[in-house]
Amino acid sequence: MIYYDKDVKLDILKDKTIAVIGYGIQGAAQSQCMQDSGLDVVVGLREGGPSWKRAVKDGMRALPISDAAKRGDVVHILIPDEIQSKVYYEHIHENLEEGNALSFSHGFNIRFNQIVPPENVDVIMVAPKGPGAMVRREYLSGSGVPALIAVEQDYTKNAKEKALAMAKAIGATRVGVLETTFAEETETDLFGEQVDLCGGSAELVKAAFETLVEAGYQPEIAYFECMHELKLIVDLYYKQGIEGMWRNVSNTAEYGGRTRGPRIISPEVKKNMKAILRDIQSGAFAKEWVLENQAGAPILNSLRKRGKEHPIEKVGKKLRKMMNL
Ligand code: NDP
Ligand code: MG
Repeated sequence: MIYYDKDVKLDILKDKTIAVIGYGIQGAAQSQCMQDSGLDVVVGLREGGPSWKRAVKDGMRALPISDAAKRGDVVHILIPDEIQSKVYYEHIHENLEEGNALSFSHGFNIRFNQIVPPENVDVIMVAPKGPGAMVRREYLSGSGVPALIAVEQDYTKNAKEKALAMAKAIGATRVGVLETTFAEETETDLFGEQVDLCGGSAELVKAAFETLVEAGYQPEIAYFECMHELKLIVDLYYKQGIEGMWRNVSNTAEYGGRTRGPRIISPEVKKNMKAILRDIQSGAFAKEWVLENQAGAPILNSLRKRGKEHPIEKVGKKLRKMMNL
């Protein structure tokens, strides 16, 4: 079932306070929308941090994190996933009261037991399927960004109603809200970002670029072909699907692509995808990521450094400047 405005009431949150922890990409957008929707919102932040000033300037009530968590009937955690566990145990855990709801926009810490809430609270998710700026922009224009909701723990028997009301308050029910589980949202989210959206597509582009440059073609030409034009193709997927993309390219592109594509994404590649999914489901990836953060992210930092030095970045910088992008 898809939930729309007419299916959802805000009443369950009417006399409640929503404590949004964090005022970054999602926190700023969601807390402003909820406040504009008439909910009582406080924002929990570290005093003196860059967000505090911004929140106050935007007309939000800022409180230290522990105070906000104490005040909130719903504590909606919108700080980076890798620091949520630490902040939760330092400032939030002991301030949750019976019947409160603990809420997230991504299920990582609950799915992989980095946060284990008390049994006498609801645990819910309201996850907009778009970046914060878009959530706010669509809300202000009278529309919204679709969202997922989920209930991990239903102590009050009202958990789903609360999640739906929050989704409504950020404008999501104007366009449609789907129900999922913490496990499904977290596992599919990690899979998508590792396999095709970020990891797979970045490596595909780089390998194609390198192949042309190593064969003696100009890096500028390789950049346009393998990287720049990808946007046109993705825009076609977005609006018209994969078959729509084929309809919009030349017959030569279509024949070549349909026959050669499967040689690039060979059965071997799908085997690798299945292995990556198994690592996500077993918690092996989560464990690796938690340890990486505990060690100060050495691998991530060195990969970032190496990424910056790749020729596609150098030529890309020059060409994007030329195109005023
Ligand atoms: P951000 O990186 O934008 O969060 C920044 C906020 O976290 C700031 O208010 C910052 O405060 C605070 N913060 C950072 N470090 C600390 C700390 N050590 N102690 C206390 N506060 C800290 O996060 P996002 O909005 O990107 O992500 C929030 C959640 O939303 C995550 O669960 C994410 O998975 C999810 N999500 C994000 C989406 C997105 O569009 N980015 C899309 C859908 C879900 P200060 O100014 O004091 O540093
Ligand atoms: Mg409380």
